[in-house]
Amino acid sequence: MKSLKQKLIILGSGFASFSTLKVIDTNLYDVIVVSPRNHFIFTPLLPSTTVGTIEFRSIIEPIRGAKDNITYYHAYCTNVNTTDNTIQCKNALDGNEFSLSFDKLVVGVGAISNTFGISGVEQYGLFLKELSDARAIRQRIIENLERASTPNLQFEERKRLLHFVVVGGGPTGVEFAAELHDFLTEDLIHSYPNILADVDITLFEAGDALLSTFDAVLSEYTIKTFQRQKISVRLQSQVAKVEAKEILLTDGSHVPYGMMVWSTGNTQTPFVKSLPFEKDRGSRLVTDEFFHIKGFTNIYSLGDCATIEGKVLPATSQVAQQEGHYLAKTLNSMAKEKPVKPFIYQHRGMLAYIGGNRALADLPQVKGRGFSTWIFWRSAYLTKLVSWKNKVLVVFDWIKTFIFGRDSSRF
Ligand SMILES: Cc1cc2nc3c(=O)[nH]c(=O)nc-3n(C[C@H](O)[C@H](O)[C@H](O)COP(=O)(O)OP(=O)(O)OC[C@H]3O[C@@H](n4cnc5c(N)ncnc54)[C@H](O)[C@@H]3O)c2cc1C
Repeated sequence: MKSLKQKLIILGSGFASFSTLKVIDTNLYDVIVVSPRNHFIFTPLLPSTTVGTIEFRSIIEPIRGAKDNITYYHAYCTNVNTTDNTIQCKNALDGNEFSLSFDKLVVGVGAISNTFGISGVEQYGLFLKELSDARAIRQRIIENLERASTPNLQFEERKRLLHFVVVGGGPTGVEFAAELHDFLTEDLIHSYPNILADVDITLFEAGDALLSTFDAVLSEYTIKTFQRQKISVRLQSQVAKVEAKEILLTDGSHVPYGMMVWSTGNTQTPFVKSLPFEKDRGSRLVTDEFFHIKGFTNIYSLGDCATIEGKVLPATSQVAQQEGHYLAKTLNSMAKEKPVKPFIYQHRGMLAYIGGNRALADLPQVKGRGFSTWIFWRSAYLTKLVSWKNKVLVVFDWIKTFIFGRDSSRF
């Protein structure tokens, strides 16, 4: 017998889509999730996995099993056809194509790292968006330390291998630099005692402040903390080109490097850019306050790939998560023919880890920094992790790191 429930397709498995999925009522909708990533990632703790403070699997939640009575396809959506309400998809593993029909569609496909088209960034840089990126960074750190330990290596080559560069002074770049500093000073100092004096960490930022969205006092405090930690911060420094062993800055200087992590903000995916919907100047899909894509009553978009017309909200997990909760509740109400209200964002503040057991909290009422804020940072993220399994694993990882240190094996 044909189901009377409406067919709801959710594209993506990030903060926006996952929170929609968690709240949607499967008694009211037949839910299908299409995403090339078969798990949700708690990105605020992703920088901690690059050095092993937390293990990779502790911050992910598989989509299959996240909710009963849903269907999941490990695929990319490649096209949306609004005349017959179908989407085209491509299996993420073998490229097999298929199409699905929908009554309602939620587009929550996020954004990708912006390279600004700078030559060499894609080829030689590492990014920090997915677990595979975090694993590649962890591998590269250890590989460079092992290569730099080779006897008779020229001093300049050793210094190059041990120069870790971060481009972008936003929360991701700052938190990664901080985690790397902790790894070097707390763990690698014991495993590589002879080469650690030659290690340098440099953070390049094109603007004139780190964490520019934070309160100016907290941003200044971060720079001072980094200076004490010997993380070199170079403000107003723009990368012009990246080569295999050197970064060229717009001021003409050449910077030899061994590893570069690129974290300079987001741009939209080729899929979002190709969609036949209204977009803003940043190519984000324009919606109303109910997340309808402009001109459609059955297609919704939210999270990093969308923007509410006339409102400027930051591209954060906090926004995406609140939007997902709201949309699922609204869809549940609509199925019961109950009235719905427009979305209102509630800003609860921003947190960032800056190394050496210090963190920042830029909350609406309080601006906190230092050790006690780090305790708050840890407790806050612990409560925000999406499952009990994640919470237990993360606590276990923190205790393990405290007692035994981080692992530096290469495999
Ligand atoms: C390292 C890091 C640290 C961060 N720290 C914080 C923090 O501390 N606080 C904070 O508020 N925010 C933080 N953020 C930002 C936050 O992660 C994003 O704003 C949030 O993930 C956006 O949610 P989203 O659902 O829009 O996109 P995402 O979470 O990026 O999810 C997009 C999903 O869509 C899928 N997808 C992509 N293309 C397609 C397609 N064609 N078809 C189907 N599915 C597709 C992807 O595989 C993915 O599952 C951080 C981000 C990073 C990378």
